[in-house]
Amino acid sequence: MSEQHQNLAIIGHVDHGKSTLVGRLLYETGSVPEHVIEQHREEAEEKGKGGFEFAYVMDNLAEERERGVTIDIAHQEFSTDAYDFTIVDCPGHRDFVKNMITGASQADNAVLVVAADDGVAPQTQEHVFLARTLGIDELIIGINKMDVVDYKEDTFNDVVDEVNQLLKQVQFQTDDASFIPISAFEGDNIAEASENTPWYDGRTLLEALNDLPAPEPPTDAPLRLPIQDVYTISGIGTVPVGRIETGVMNIGDNVSFQPSDVGGEVKTIEMHHEEVPKAEPGDNVGFNVRGIGKDDIRRGDVCGPADDPPSVAETFQAQVVVMQHPSVITAGYTPVFHAHTAQVACTIESIDKKMDPASGEVAEENPDFIQSGDAAVVTIRPQKPLSIEPSSEIPELGSFAIRDMGQTIAAGKVLEVHEKE
Ligand code: GDP
Repeated sequence: MSEQHQNLAIIGHVDHGKSTLVGRLLYETGSVPEHVIEQHREEAEEKGKGGFEFAYVMDNLAEERERGVTIDIAHQEFSTDAYDFTIVDCPGHRDFVKNMITGASQADNAVLVVAADDGVAPQTQEHVFLARTLGIDELIIGINKMDVVDYKEDTFNDVVDEVNQLLKQVQFQTDDASFIPISAFEGDNIAEASENTPWYDGRTLLEALNDLPAPEPPTDAPLRLPIQDVYTISGIGTVPVGRIETGVMNIGDNVSFQPSDVGGEVKTIEMHHEEVPKAEPGDNVGFNVRGIGKDDIRRGDVCGPADDPPSVAETFQAQVVVMQHPSVITAGYTPVFHAHTAQVACTIESIDKKMDPASGEVAEENPDFIQSGDAAVVTIRPQKPLSIEPSSEIPELGSFAIRDMGQTIAAGKVLEVHEKE
């Protein structure tokens, strides 16, 4: 096990090889349980296909997926010397966008998979744009399926140019992006430099992953603890539970719950069934606050210091990306917003600017509508009080997913919060 942890997103167009790459990473890092490998090795040998354990691992992943049993590729774990990686939900797998924004699993960095024989495709653009909007620090770009294009350097360079253009378009910092010619299927340049690409002298994928910058430690932002549930425990009383996103909670602190607008002194903090004097970002805690009853607070409240309480928005301005909407979005539209643990219907009060994703500049002031693929700045009015923060101040509490018709239709980050007077 390594000391440091990273959440890694695997993004890219459907069929470009994301699942295969995850399988390959697990296989090369010895993260597939030995008995699973052994079982596949035996099966492979029985069928006269010794040495194809990897193919069998993949078949098994695929088969399990079809059966709905999950060895899903999300939440798989593997380690390099420097990091323990957890793969967070990949696009196309369940509710990637929503989970990325509201889940406990915000990605620190991402691997973008682009098939060499297909190049930049629609979801490549969408995911890169989303990754940038949501503040993923760094991208490693695996140009995959190099075996399909006979490991040709020219093809690799063409795809690199295409991707570079895309990164420039959405203004992703490209200085440090590494491009690696890989075959997830054959294993080229994943754990070892491939003989098939003598023209490439850069790092392997695992080396690049190992060299990723450490995730930014949480800022010195004030305490923000979105409440997940509220329990009543005999002998203790009301126990709200949740994960500390930013800041520190100490016994004796004076805290405030917003938007319920109640507060008191922290009496006890419990973590993993043990009492602790203080808790930090990432800690899942249950705690008890003097004078707070079960009906005073609810899921979706955010707990913060009494002298720097969580913001409650009367309206807020946000940058949104429309990912999939069957028609058009106009002012007045009121879908459900998912932000941290809150779910609140919010009205898009005005569409202030449409942005050109190509240049990042304003394409149109006060457009009548926006639709799939558009990025825009909009003003939003929650229909019930909602605690949310500007992304520039507390990114952990500054993004949201917009859901309608059972799908995530847009994602965004908060630019400015206008609080109730
Ligand atoms: P995803 O939709 O991005 O997760 O893509 P998959 O991992 O399911 O791969 C889609 C198809 O491409 C599958 O048939 C894979 O076997 C194949 N594939 C993935 N990576 C490679 C590769 O490096 N070389 C070749 N030849 N095929 C690949």
